[in-house]
Amino acid sequence: MKDEDSKGIRLSRQRETILAELRKVKTHPTADEVYDMVRKILPRISLGTVYRNLDTLSNRGVVLRLGGAGTQKRFDGNPAAHPHLRCSVCGRVDDLEWPFALPDLPVEHSMGYVDLRCDVEYVGICPTCAGKNN
Ligand SMILES: [Zn+2]
Ligand SMILES: [Zn+2]
Repeated sequence: MKDEDSKGIRLSRQRETILAELRKVKTHPTADEVYDMVRKILPRISLGTVYRNLDTLSNRGVVLRLGGAGTQKRFDGNPAAHPHLRCSVCGRVDDLEWPFALPDLPVEHSMGYVDLRCDVEYVGICPTCAGKNN
């Protein structure tokens, strides 16, 4: 039981380490950044293994995969629906302090889709990038 997570996936040691490292940070790292974090613990892990495990974890809803077409995918160890701020210049993603509950989509509007979550992202220019323009 110990090496099964709440979604019933049998976790390899590599996947466990990837998940543990991802849950430690709030920076929403890219796969390459996750690779750098995990490599400090498992020096022989390959980038491909990190990519594959991140895909599996996000496909099963254990972690969130952020970013649409054209932006580098970022990963979030917190799988609960929560809103984000993303910088359109450097790609940084922050959790947004949000005073309201995200609305559930009424079933009559869901057009047959299931497992819906609300994915809210505000896009702007972060303080660091905004400062560079002054
Ligand atoms: Zn920025
Ligand atoms: Zn987040």
